[in-house]
Amino acid sequence: MTDILAFYSGPDPFDVWRDALAPHLAGHVEIQEADKVTDPAAVRFALVWMPPEGFFARFPNLELVINLGAGVDRLVARGDLPDVPITRLSDPEMGRMMAGYVLFAVLRHARDIPHFEAAQPKREWAYKHPHAASDTTVAVLGLGELGALAATEIARQGYDTHGWATRPKDLPGVTVHCGDDALPGLLAAADIVVCMLPLTPGTAKRLDAGAFAAMKKGAAFINVSRGAVVDEPAMIEALRSGHLSGATLDVFATEPLPADSPLWTLPGVLITPHLASVALPKSAAPQIAANVRAIQTGGALINTVSRERGY
Ligand code: NDP
Repeated sequence: MTDILAFYSGPDPFDVWRDALAPHLAGHVEIQEADKVTDPAAVRFALVWMPPEGFFARFPNLELVINLGAGVDRLVARGDLPDVPITRLSDPEMGRMMAGYVLFAVLRHARDIPHFEAAQPKREWAYKHPHAASDTTVAVLGLGELGALAATEIARQGYDTHGWATRPKDLPGVTVHCGDDALPGLLAAADIVVCMLPLTPGTAKRLDAGAFAAMKKGAAFINVSRGAVVDEPAMIEALRSGHLSGATLDVFATEPLPADSPLWTLPGVLITPHLASVALPKSAAPQIAANVRAIQTGGALINTVSRERGY
């Protein structure tokens, strides 16, 4: 009996993922769309993005769940997850895409682009003297696979770059702060705050009214992780009052962002529809195949997710 890998994703096309994976798994695994699986008992691997309720119960012999993305909040919060290892994607192209978006957003605020965008429709030559990068302090909250790469890129541009995580780490050009006690001081020092925290029970609404009040007046806020890490009404109030000068937001408490959200029209706010980074089949395929083969041959898994930590 050939092992089956069952694929499920709403947004990601099956054919493209099958074609990217096939060269790495030929002769070892059959790749099938979950709805069309021929023998559910032969399914040992599930490659999934937000599968429907009851999905896992169909496959009694699952040995590995591979999250088709970096954020695992929706997966680990499920009640029906089988007791098998979970891995996530951590592919270099995905990291590069995220670092590119974050760098763009940091430069947008550091170079006063919202100011020029507001002036242009009024035909105003609104000169604003630029600052040296080293005079701008950027705080990156979350230094994981994606966060660490983004922080390093920001530091490479010469910004005074700080990061926040639970555990210490060594990143070139980045001053790392750890633990809850370090957060208020970091928020108070930053001109630009970038949220790259995973959504877990410990980070839900972690950026609340108190956190926004702790930020420097005139600071800019960037969120590329999950909307639920932020108390959205508190963020809106901080933008409305002018305490925050602007924001670049890719993720929201409710997605798509409702048409009546005040965020659409607040000055200095740029909205993008949750696309800072996406899973890329060609560059992700080797690590997915490596984990499938590790299960088949008794090797070590990479990019595993801790259920206890929730990321
Ligand atoms: P990881 O899971 O690799 O790392 C999470 C980081 O957050 C770690 O540095 C961790 O600290 C830190 N952290 C977690 N909890 C806390 C806490 N309570 N206090 C302080 N620090 C904490 O995340 P990634 O960098 O890979 O990705 C970040 C998020 O980006 C994903 O979870 C996902 O939600 C989002 N994402 C968004 C996309 C988009 O298109 N907008 C695309 C892909 C991902 P430590 O290192 O000490 O463990």
